Amino acid sequence: MDVLLEAEALSKHFGSFKAVDGISLSVKKGEVLGFLGPNGAGKTTTMKMLTGFLSPTSGSARVCGDVVTTGNVAARKRIGYLPEGAPLYGDMTVRAFLCFIAESHAIPKIEILDVVESAAGAVRLMDVMEQRIETLSKGFRRRVGLAAAILHAPDVLILDEPTDGLDPNQKHEVRRLIEAMSFGRAIIISTHILEEVDALCHRAVIINKGRVVADGTPSELRARSRYRNAVTMLLPQEMAEKAASAIKVIRMVERVEAASEGANMRLTIVPRGNCEIADQIGDIAAVSNWQVSQFSVDPGRLDDVFRQVTEGAQ
Ligand code: ADP
Ligand code: MG
Repeated sequence: MDVLLEAEALSKHFGSFKAVDGISLSVKKGEVLGFLGPNGAGKTTTMKMLTGFLSPTSGSARVCGDVVTTGNVAARKRIGYLPEGAPLYGDMTVRAFLCFIAESHAIPKIEILDVVESAAGAVRLMDVMEQRIETLSKGFRRRVGLAAAILHAPDVLILDEPTDGLDPNQKHEVRRLIEAMSFGRAIIISTHILEEVDALCHRAVIINKGRVVADGTPSELRARSRYRNAVTMLLPQEMAEKAASAIKVIRMVERVEAASEGANMRLTIVPRGNCEIADQIGDIAAVSNWQVSQFSVDPGRLDDVFRQVTEGAQ
């Protein structure tokens, strides 16, 4: 079996509050799983249980088939963890910090320099090895966190909001590094950035209030969007009103949304039950000569699905 990371009905209660309430998931070798949810949904708490930093109230986590517990050193050795906010020792140099982390993993002294060198190379830190961490940009600091997470060659990587707080270029760079690290490993990344799922993840699990509310590939999730198969068209203002009234009466049309764009109007025609309406709308548009300049069919929207399944979240 190539499932490297598994959670089975993981729960964590703080008093009577159920922060995590029966979460099950699995991540295979080579797979990057996106772990999504609004703030407070229970992502960090789940990840702490997956890494063995926090004991579950009930349920269990397994890495390579071995149950993760706070005391199971062998299991925890197979896990690399980037905590939320990636705390680092600012006054240490990158090299000193990574050597310190390597020692804490009980890596033999004679191997430490090589291990540090290779992890730093993997995330392209070679040029800043003698620099103090506090003098680095956020993007480089995040890379130090990633190097620390992979030092001991773990099979599983658990990365809590690895791109949080980075600018778009830094985000892109960190995503590329994570992608490169996924070879032969199972990776789970938490995020509330939906574009991350498209950019990086093979699959995504969405949680809300401690429970899984959706699980699938990006295209499977997108297919659950109310906008799946919606038709968008751009046409002159003066045509739009007439077109909208003609379209509204079609039985398969749920509603028509209109937004003006300069002299044009963008109509979004949402079908009932995601049915295919593009041909029908296209035919009517052609016959009625609405002067449509753009016409497209929506594959569905992740942000819409996210909102749909997490509605009512605080
Ligand atoms: P996320 O990472 O998805 O934003 P968290 O896992 O950090 O969510 O938190 C989930 C919920 O559990 C939040 O409501 C948070 O306030 C609560 N929580 C987290 N840790 C503790 C704790 N040690 N004691 C009490 N409540 C906690
Ligand atoms: Mg969190």
